[in-house]
Amino acid sequence: MAEFTMELNDEQKEVRDWLHGFAADVIRPAAAEWDEREETPWPVIQEAAKVGIYSLDFYAQQYFDATGLGIPMAMEELFWGDAGIALSIVGTGLAAVGVLANGTEEQIGTWIPQMYGDVNDVKVAAFCSSEPDAGSDVSSMRTRAVYDEAKDEWVLNGTKTWATNGGIANVHVVVAVVDPELGSKGHASFIVPPNTPGLAQGQKFKKHGIRASHTAEVILDNVRVPGSCLLGGKEKLDERLARARERAKAGGERVKNAAMATFEASRPAVGAMAVGTARAAYEVALDYAKTREQFGRPIIDNQGVAFQLADMRTQIDAARLLVWRASWMAVNGKPFTAAEGSMSKLFASETAKKVTAQAVQILGGNGYTREYPVERMHRDAAIYTIFEGTSEIQRLVIARTLSGMPIR
Ligand SMILES: Cc1cc2nc3c(=O)[nH]c(=O)nc-3n(C[C@H](O)[C@H](O)[C@H](O)COP(=O)(O)OP(=O)(O)OC[C@H]3O[C@@H](n4cnc5c(N)ncnc54)[C@H](O)[C@@H]3O)c2cc1C
Repeated sequence: MAEFTMELNDEQKEVRDWLHGFAADVIRPAAAEWDEREETPWPVIQEAAKVGIYSLDFYAQQYFDATGLGIPMAMEELFWGDAGIALSIVGTGLAAVGVLANGTEEQIGTWIPQMYGDVNDVKVAAFCSSEPDAGSDVSSMRTRAVYDEAKDEWVLNGTKTWATNGGIANVHVVVAVVDPELGSKGHASFIVPPNTPGLAQGQKFKKHGIRASHTAEVILDNVRVPGSCLLGGKEKLDERLARARERAKAGGERVKNAAMATFEASRPAVGAMAVGTARAAYEVALDYAKTREQFGRPIIDNQGVAFQLADMRTQIDAARLLVWRASWMAVNGKPFTAAEGSMSKLFASETAKKVTAQAVQILGGNGYTREYPVERMHRDAAIYTIFEGTSEIQRLVIARTLSGMPIR
């Protein structure tokens, strides 16, 4: 097990500087344009593929870094560049985590490369769990997967919503109900391969922020996938369902389901994205406060402004430490006895919302315009307290973990 460290090693610093260069030179200059266009920034994703940032190798290297700091460091730098473009680059990684967490070696080897495509023909992937009536309440999921034993195929029917890259993805990872009696314990994850008939994009959402990232409904109408597309395989599913039925009969110890395993692995990473956006806005505000003069002196000469910047930086550093701790725990298999993963996501996302709002305030009228990036960063930051579990749900998870009580 790697010791927890607050210091990046030399190799990690090199990667961080390289990512920062890409974020500063390629992502940030493109941010305003793709925010206005509200389209997937394919040319930027391709640039990222060319230099090796958009690739399974790069992602896996960071994901399996034993210090746990690889993914948070990478997320912070890319999202420092721009949240919408960065989500277009890392959204595939969120789907890949679904396969890494629940898939067999063979499934990982077959599907993850197809999620990324190659430099000349980049592809993206989508993770589809949320539904119109099943957001925070995952147990209300209705999308059904029924096994057709004669053909060894699964048949998927239902409507997914809010899927990042939904409908434009080469590979969709879809969570569906296989045993409705078991609530969220009766869910399983499936690969829907490229060009599978019956899968279609529904509404594409026009959003408040992260507008370069594509978010849409995904309609599944009698989608047939081979038995081999069930993540983890049928035998493992049958064993898991049998255990869940036994426990349900015995009166109910909680069992982790497929979607929850994915969320647990990705929450500190979302915290790191929030840290990136918060740091970006803080830096713009600090520079502005040092150069903008009113009453014959820089506005930072006023404690009212300087103390805000002091609080912003303190909260960003605290958020990063929570994220790094949770990420180190996740990689090293430490149990989250105080829901440290949720804590990190909760604090970092609330910090991003607060810090970006303060940045707008410090820039005054300029902060309220699209001439300066903090307006976009403030809109972007609002997503962090919503996706991958809202702040309220994080508090619920933390409170339940701490108390052992079924708090509602
Ligand atoms: C841009 C974007 C991208 C997304 N990407 C994906 C994706 O790729 N894949 C995917 O599967 N999903 C994705 N999501 C979905 C996201 O995870 C959900 O929006 C989120 O889980 C909240 O669900 P909901 O929107 O249905 O809100 P609801 O669950 O309806 O919640 C509404 C409000 O009620 C509160 N609330 C609900 N229950 C409780 C409770 N028990 N106690 C206290 N408060 C409560 C919530 O905190 C929230 O404030 C994305 C969403 C967005 C906006």
